Amino acid sequence: MVKRRAPSRRIARTRKDSPANTPTGTGGTLHVVATPIGNLKDLSERAREVLASAGLVAAEDTRHTQQLLQAHGIRARLVSVHEHNEAERAAEVLQALAGGANVALVSDAGTPLVSDPGLRIVRAVIDAGFDVRAVPGPCAAIAALSIAGLETERFAFEGFLPAKAAARRARLAALRGDSRTLIFYEAPHRLRESLEDLSTAFGPARRAVIARELTKLFETVYRGSLEELMQRARQDADLQRGEIVIVVEGAPSAAQAQAAEIEHVLGVLLAQLSVSQAADLAAALTGASRNTAYRLALKMSGQGA
Ligand code: SAM
Repeated sequence: MVKRRAPSRRIARTRKDSPANTPTGTGGTLHVVATPIGNLKDLSERAREVLASAGLVAAEDTRHTQQLLQAHGIRARLVSVHEHNEAERAAEVLQALAGGANVALVSDAGTPLVSDPGLRIVRAVIDAGFDVRAVPGPCAAIAALSIAGLETERFAFEGFLPAKAAARRARLAALRGDSRTLIFYEAPHRLRESLEDLSTAFGPARRAVIARELTKLFETVYRGSLEELMQRARQDADLQRGEIVIVVEGAPSAAQAQAAEIEHVLGVLLAQLSVSQAADLAAALTGASRNTAYRLALKMSGQGA
């Protein structure tokens, strides 16, 4: 077997990298640090060390991060980074890195850049050739997926659905046939209408999970069909509060959908007809082969293997 050599540091660097703008091996490192999504104890030991030793902490909301740092006895120089000043802050971050300081990038909760600011800074740092390292940790989407009990082999993070109904419905219509587990962030005051639109787009029987206030005092997980969750959201005032992730089962594959349809049709027909008649009709109605319908009909009537 031919062993591949790991790409060298040099190759991993970008075109812009040159001794002039980034002396290789010098300069600080940008650490993208995940912070707790509720439970302050979820800050990792490594995150704590990186924050404590950073020359600069770029934070979404400095007051919010200050509380986290205080709770962990960390003192740091903080600057705010939000949607409207990222480009400006990127220059400041690059200056700090060029001066040899390490910089930590955090958001209010969870993993920066995941429905949070930071992408422009990370890109600017990559383009300037400085190292960017992840200090991984909490992320509400992954936490919800890990307890949903839905397929995890393939999943898609969809972030927040559009707030406007027409755009939200169009987005959901495009996702209707997606067989991956889908993860959405949602504001509690929009949960009901989003569940209604999800149910209309994906069908009321599609299974879903609502993970609310993860890692916090009022953590609650609701499981059921979209129809059941919609009813629950209408009746339960708790569902109008707190932070929420919705995880939705992916669409069945064409083969699974056909199998479910034949089974459903046979279930109805077998109550009135013989196995042979039911199989003939089920095949005609669903487009399945007569053989498939017959074998399933035998099994459902207790005569087959
Ligand atoms: N960067 C964060 C992460 O890694 O999860 C997400 C930030 S986004 C602005 C905030 C959204 O994440 C909330 O509206 C909610 O949908 C979800 N979220 C954050 N914390 C949560 C929690 N403790 N429980 C459930 N959902 C949460």
